[in-house]
Amino acid sequence: MIETRGYAAFDAKKPLGPFAFSRREPGEHDVLIDILYCGVCHSDIHQVRNEWNNAKYPMVPGHEIVGRVSRVGAKVTRFAVGDPVGVGCFVDSCRTCPSCQKGEEQYCDGPLVFTYNSLEKDGKTPTQGGYSSSIVVDENYVLRIQKGAPLDRVAPLLCAGITTYSPLRHWNLAKGQHVAVLGLGGLGHMAVKLAAAFGAEVTLLSSSPSKKADAQRLGAHHFQVTSDEAALGKLKNHFHMLIDTVSAPHDIAGYVELLGTDGVMVLLGVPETPAPLPAFGLISRRRSIVGSLIGGIEETQEMLDFCAARSITADVETIAVQDINRAYDRMLKSDVRYRFVIDAASLKRD
Ligand SMILES: [Zn+2]
Ligand SMILES: [Zn+2]
Repeated sequence: MIETRGYAAFDAKKPLGPFAFSRREPGEHDVLIDILYCGVCHSDIHQVRNEWNNAKYPMVPGHEIVGRVSRVGAKVTRFAVGDPVGVGCFVDSCRTCPSCQKGEEQYCDGPLVFTYNSLEKDGKTPTQGGYSSSIVVDENYVLRIQKGAPLDRVAPLLCAGITTYSPLRHWNLAKGQHVAVLGLGGLGHMAVKLAAAFGAEVTLLSSSPSKKADAQRLGAHHFQVTSDEAALGKLKNHFHMLIDTVSAPHDIAGYVELLGTDGVMVLLGVPETPAPLPAFGLISRRRSIVGSLIGGIEETQEMLDFCAARSITADVETIAVQDINRAYDRMLKSDVRYRFVIDAASLKRD
């Protein structure tokens, strides 16, 4: 067994603390990865605090993992010791259902094995995530990272990056099209960078005027405060696509009106209460409201290669793992620009 240091949640109410556990010995198709950095995703907080009612404790969160391969199984062909690699939101899937066969493992009929707070395919071994010193993953669920890439800034691409890239690709955002990004947090800041890299004309919609300078620095061409209804009204029928990253309850119907004919509003956040369906807004211009969940392994690799070719990375604040509880508090106040990333070297301190 591989002795591993981690930081875990022990129940929904207590702060995270040090936790020693074991990883399996790498099998024939597995790689052992020494973790260097792990991004901190908002869904870590939801799961740690059992807000999705599926928490298994002790829980080591983290699904924006980058590290270096330190051992490979006998039949591993895609990776060698020393390679920089990444692991995202899931580490295995059924491999046979229609979604898996299409390379869209994120929509697997099951079992889809999430990186943490999930069970391995044996149905009983809990998975543990990237707030830890090492992880063992089947090579088919490991991503290549370009040599020399800034690994701390690459880590958030494994969830925030692919979550925003996948809908832009799937709904074919094209050069010159108008795209709106609603909300400038971890997801929103990646959506702005990626949509701009696709050649789209990007408008950032935010409730806070203080985000204007950042929006422009990140690549947005326009900025609009959402409380200014008159100005927002001028953007009616304007957008091909609207990427909605907000997970607090908000007025979906008003934003649908900003889409042109055949415009698509993509939901990435999950508000606690369902929004009413704006049927008139949809019918009157053949608009759609759709949802999208992360991306498959093949598309995640495509996204990493796309970002590497254009030097696109996340804006991060690197922290020691001992600061994780304070980081959660700050995230809940939107006080992070725009992703916390744990430096796994700090695990050696406890
Ligand atoms: Zn995530
Ligand atoms: Zn499947």
